[in-house]
Amino acid sequence: MSYDRDPQLRLLEGSRDEKVRPNQTPNVPDQYVQDLQRDLNALGYAAGKIDGWFGPRTGDAVRAFQRDARGPRRQEQASALQAGRRFTEESPVYTGEVNGVVDQATALEIRRWKEHRWQRPDSGGSFPIEDIRDRLPINPNLTARIRQPNHIDRLVLHCTDAPPTWGAMACATYDVHPNHISARGCPTITYTYFVNADGLVQKCLSHDVVSWHAGDWNFRGLGIVLAYRATGNAAPPPTAQLEAAAELFARLCDSLGLLPVPNVVGHRELKGTGYVIDAHGQVKLRKECPGLKVNLNEFRQETARRLTSLKASP
Ligand SMILES: [Zn+2]
Repeated sequence: MSYDRDPQLRLLEGSRDEKVRPNQTPNVPDQYVQDLQRDLNALGYAAGKIDGWFGPRTGDAVRAFQRDARGPRRQEQASALQAGRRFTEESPVYTGEVNGVVDQATALEIRRWKEHRWQRPDSGGSFPIEDIRDRLPINPNLTARIRQPNHIDRLVLHCTDAPPTWGAMACATYDVHPNHISARGCPTITYTYFVNADGLVQKCLSHDVVSWHAGDWNFRGLGIVLAYRATGNAAPPPTAQLEAAAELFARLCDSLGLLPVPNVVGHRELKGTGYVIDAHGQVKLRKECPGLKVNLNEFRQETARRLTSLKASP
């Protein structure tokens, strides 16, 4: 039997699939927790590793799902063919508790979301993010790969290294045409979020679309770019821009279950694409991105500070 058809269903923190620890209680039938974790991850709620063990992370994911299920906003899952995604409003059917406990009502709602191919809506909240996914050009000849959000373990800060007036539309147009990365162009814009010089944040891609921003790290990395010219620039990015970026990183850490250390990095900190170790064992930078005037340790600290206050707020 699958967990969502069990009338006696009750999964909560501490539940574990029978075969994970056969001699410990509380036990639930085999695969129940694993299937739940797989479903939550697929819907965009980072439940962590699919290990059959209902820990705090799975509990957070359940609570986040229950909270969203009580609201009207639904988001359609990206298909391999479309980089963008549409939103629909539905009258909520789930009227249960937000308690992190999966009973039959919660399981039925998870099944309903799967059947409709809905996915976690953008949090946004008090932090405005302009959604421009439907407006950006994509490459008609290439199809982006799709991943699940629990595959993301690096949030990668980049800069455009172009004049700050060069926006997301210009960036996307450049990226999907033949360019320095690929003679066929990239399938989509290379960055998931675009942070403008004045602090305006734009969402360019769904999290499950794999973009070409960091070589071998593309699949597990989510790219965030500052509209900022680093080359030959003695000045760091404007404070408003860095603060907006740190707030975005904090919110992404929160929703994806990541931490400023080790999950937040600058492009130049990624081995292979950002730096190599030379024959003498010395680090050799291949990229300065997002610019040597961007202090990445300070950026992580600022992200951590914002993440702490985000978690403390109700
Ligand atoms: Zn970069």
